[in-house]
Amino acid sequence: MFAGLKPFAPVIAPQSTEKRDRLGWKAPKSGLHDGLLYNQNVSSTEETCTRLTEITNLTVSAGTPLSLYTRFGIGGPADVYAETEDAAAFIASLDVARASGLDYMVMGSGTNLVVSDAGFRGIMLRFTSHGMRSEGTRVSADAGAVLQDLIDFAIDRGLKGLETMSGVPGSVGAAVYGNAGAYGHSISERIRSVLFFDGSNVRLFDNGACQFHYRESIFKRHKDWIIFSTELELEAAAADELRRIADDILKVRNEKFPVTMKCAGSIFKNLLLHELPPGKAAAVPGRVVREGKVPAAYFLEQAGAKGMQRGDIHVADYHANLIYNGGRGTAQELCALIEDLKGRVRSRFGIELEEEVQYVGFPQLLPAG
Ligand SMILES: Cc1cc2nc3c(=O)[nH]c(=O)nc-3n(C[C@H](O)[C@H](O)[C@H](O)COP(=O)(O)OP(=O)(O)OC[C@H]3O[C@@H](n4cnc5c(N)ncnc54)[C@H](O)[C@@H]3O)c2cc1C
Repeated sequence: MFAGLKPFAPVIAPQSTEKRDRLGWKAPKSGLHDGLLYNQNVSSTEETCTRLTEITNLTVSAGTPLSLYTRFGIGGPADVYAETEDAAAFIASLDVARASGLDYMVMGSGTNLVVSDAGFRGIMLRFTSHGMRSEGTRVSADAGAVLQDLIDFAIDRGLKGLETMSGVPGSVGAAVYGNAGAYGHSISERIRSVLFFDGSNVRLFDNGACQFHYRESIFKRHKDWIIFSTELELEAAAADELRRIADDILKVRNEKFPVTMKCAGSIFKNLLLHELPPGKAAAVPGRVVREGKVPAAYFLEQAGAKGMQRGDIHVADYHANLIYNGGRGTAQELCALIEDLKGRVRSRFGIELEEEVQYVGFPQLLPAG
């Protein structure tokens, strides 16, 4: 359990100075991020695999298709995939990953990832520790806990504050990372602190230090920081009333996002009205603005997005900001459709949509030079 974990001494590997792409991922050590780079790293990948397999309670595999771990059902192989619910094993795997010099990242349940068809040249780590604890109105949870389990845990104890997020899929760690939210509330409203690893030390940030914003946090700008656990402050309330709210929301959400749908929820972030240029903000009818945000779907719908298709990747015909994989879609088709939609909104409204989904394994996003 991470609740009692204290910051530990720096690991041996020095702080990274690698270049990062515009999404924050580390630049490759050399050459293009294609088959060549893979070949250059083969021996090191094998050595790293061997070292990882020596860690007790860590499940390790090589060449694992990430499509098995993403809700889109899309994504080529990770050179190495390792997962554990054991805290000590996870920290040991991080030490090995850092010392290897290979790229590495952590994923949660894969519900918000677009992984390239070529996959991820590096080590994909998954931390599944799902401990949850409560004391009075305070609740803490490990990063690998399922967000819905945490919501249910709080509701069962008559603790209010998370119930509007019912049905948001994924893990607690990723919810903190992306400041997940729904129905006008975000998890950041309830977070007291976050325990994480910054690549050298285990640190504890209070809410302010996390720099939460709509679907944003400091963790999104430091993609190598790994969240271990979080503590939340909730409010006492009647459990049956909280359950009713959660059930009502779940019913609506399950109709909009059928549980078998291969998607990532909303592809694009909504737009904060106060961040739009004044002329464009004034042109948005008041009836479409919700909690200070203009749904991206408002622009997408007018740009003709509903029902669009690339290969087996589709925009839902009932929701312009929902893209799903019909079953045989590829990341290439998905990205082409996303670019097409962004282009349409840009040319019609002069507005740049920003993806809510996170890209993995797209080195072409690296800046030139
Ligand atoms: C049907 C559907 C509906 C959705 N509705 C909503 C919604 O209403 N509101 C909303 O906010 N989101 C929504 N989403 C998006 C998704 O549920 C959230 O983004 C969720 O938080 C992702 O969790 P995950 O565990 O699947 O993360 P992943 O997709 O696996 O990862 C997402 C990001 O989190 C990072 N990450 C994961 N774990 C850690 C960690 N321990 N430390 C640091 N970084 C980490 C990963 O590196 C990655 O960049 C929806 C998705 C789907 C499929």
